[in-house]
Amino acid sequence: MGAMSTDVKTIIRGGLVFDGLGGSPVAADVALAGERIADVAPPGALDGAAAGADRVVEAKGLALCPGFIDAHSHSDAYLLLEPSAASKLAQGVTCEITGNCGASAAPRLPGYNLPSDWAEKHYPRDWTDVADYRKALKEARPAIHSRMLIGHRTIRSAVMGLEPRPASSEEVARMVRLMDEALEQGGAGVSTGLIYAPAMFAGREELVALARCAGRHGGLYATHMRSEGAGLLEAIDEAVAIAREADCPLQISHLKTAGKSNWHKLPAALDRIEAARAEGLDVFSDRYPYTASCTDMDVLLPEWAGQGGNEVVYARLADPAMRARIADEIRAARPPEYWEGVHIAFTRQKGFAGRPLLDYARTVGLPPPEAMLHLISADGPGTMGIFFGMSEDNLWEIWSRPWVMGGSDASIRAPWGPLGEDHPHPRAYGTFPRLLAASRTGGEAAKKGISMAETIRKCTSLPAARFHLRDRGVIRQGAFADLVLFDPETIADTATYARPHSFPTGIRSVFVDGEIAWKDGKPTGIRRGRYLAP
Ligand SMILES: [Zn+2]
Repeated sequence: MGAMSTDVKTIIRGGLVFDGLGGSPVAADVALAGERIADVAPPGALDGAAAGADRVVEAKGLALCPGFIDAHSHSDAYLLLEPSAASKLAQGVTCEITGNCGASAAPRLPGYNLPSDWAEKHYPRDWTDVADYRKALKEARPAIHSRMLIGHRTIRSAVMGLEPRPASSEEVARMVRLMDEALEQGGAGVSTGLIYAPAMFAGREELVALARCAGRHGGLYATHMRSEGAGLLEAIDEAVAIAREADCPLQISHLKTAGKSNWHKLPAALDRIEAARAEGLDVFSDRYPYTASCTDMDVLLPEWAGQGGNEVVYARLADPAMRARIADEIRAARPPEYWEGVHIAFTRQKGFAGRPLLDYARTVGLPPPEAMLHLISADGPGTMGIFFGMSEDNLWEIWSRPWVMGGSDASIRAPWGPLGEDHPHPRAYGTFPRLLAASRTGGEAAKKGISMAETIRKCTSLPAARFHLRDRGVIRQGAFADLVLFDPETIADTATYARPHSFPTGIRSVFVDGEIAWKDGKPTGIRRGRYLAP
């Protein structure tokens, strides 16, 4: 028909519109033209235009809000593999910030090995630097947008391998050059994962230099801190000091108080962050709405035993005397009841994914630390653990702070295909609907005074501003039409620790750049996701 891109194509009529800025929702009709919102008008005002529109979506009884922006994701590699992005799109996520916790899919420099869960998958093609990753992403045509942080571990291993020591000044200078190039090509900033080997050996000079580099490019310093438990307060002090010295905005990743003996530290942790903010420092955080974390099972190894890369670590575990010493150290570092909170996520041992480690321990007839070592040795690299160690009340207290945004800490999955065999944390499928459900009357967020409108702000305009996603995260004339149409009464997560591959309820349609990418529980096949760089 030769319609101009400014012509109204879709009218979403009669919905309750949350604009993403946190104010009370209003009844309005929304017109979309091309990839943007053409008009937001009082109910009925667009009826004339509706006659000429290609599509009228009746939204009576439903709510419309901007697409959710997942501020903390790990989908960089998997977006190439499962471009339907099903587990995220189904939640209403239209953009992810990837490359968190120190490891990004690019640049792939000599010396850098992708994390084992990524490395063992088969991709449509290989890629090299950030520019080439962006090309590969474009070819894959993902259903949702993304922007990637550049991992510290990614860059560090190219300069100094897996050496467990701080970098020399000359090595720091080389890291900064590589980081500069990656950020020049569109990286959103630098991420660190300071609990992981050998990133934990990075000293102040190294981290400040990389954060300063990120700041120069308008990016931020996102950190999975050195400790989220016993050393939490010191870790916050370090992160804030690095950001101050580097003159770089700070994002504290998945803020938590890990371990019951550290739950009481929350007020002190929040005070420290709020004092830094009051001083004018640019500090924000993200959080997922669950009380269990999920990461590689081998983070339980004593610091020395986890160094040297997979080959060295697994050789250590194969030596009986060494293994006994490692088990003793693991036991000594934790109270006996700790093990009740450890579940197995991904494993190659049939029938144990999603089950308590204690079940496995009984089956193999070993005490928990020995059973854990038995399991990871039998699996080879890749065993994932789910660790119950957080307080529900602290979670919602953290969420109630206006500077905390929604972040799943999960990569995309799908109930089908190569990612369907995995056993992820339920946050991969449930994070955003769970946050919204908690803000309904009587919900945990609502009890802390957080309305659905405020929850939506924390999942839309707040991360959009944080990561410089221009004209996103808001419903207004001229903004991109990334939208979620949902039932505010029924929106909820359904994924559980036992059955994680389960789509949420209450999401009617998800629009990405003006087109419906997800409808009534299924992808439509329209994939308009882009890499978003300013
Ligand atoms: Zn992390």
